[in-house]
Amino acid sequence: LITEPTRELAAPDLVEPVIGFREWRLRGDRLLSQHTDVAWEGETMAAECLPGRFSVHRGPGLHADPSPAPDCACGLYACFEPYRRWASSVDWTLIAGAAALWGRIQVHRSGMRAQYARPVVLALPPRLPPKRLQAAKGVSERLGLPLVRFEHLAAAAEEHGRKLPRSLLLA
Ligand SMILES: [Zn+2]
Repeated sequence: LITEPTRELAAPDLVEPVIGFREWRLRGDRLLSQHTDVAWEGETMAAECLPGRFSVHRGPGLHADPSPAPDCACGLYACFEPYRRWASSVDWTLIAGAAALWGRIQVHRSGMRAQYARPVVLALPPRLPPKRLQAAKGVSERLGLPLVRFEHLAAAAEEHGRKLPRSLLLA
């Protein structure tokens, strides 16, 4: 979880969704957040502060600010880039993909926490046992999300928004 310094972005900083990359837990044909087990059903997700459901939780959990609050750990998490060495390349219970992010976004050195997110594409690692491939296809069909090879993830994602401009990354 992200607990470093943050920079807050909000409209009008960004005029189109930001693309973020993440991994979900694949359970049956459901996509779950790894740390909270919240199910992503394909439509827009709105961040909520869930006290006690984060393994690291620095805030009081009852902040007045909407989630993601700067001094809390809440929000919908994503990374700036897809990482080839992600756990999902060897852990078949996870699946990589991308989400469009918007609303308030807390930018950290290693990733972002957004107010709103919608999954836009799922990606397959190079080698996947047939049973897991079936599960990945199942969730992709059920949620209406394209399923692409991992090498094509970034390009497929950028049809739905743009990566965070370099000028907005923290040094
Ligand atoms: Zn919070």
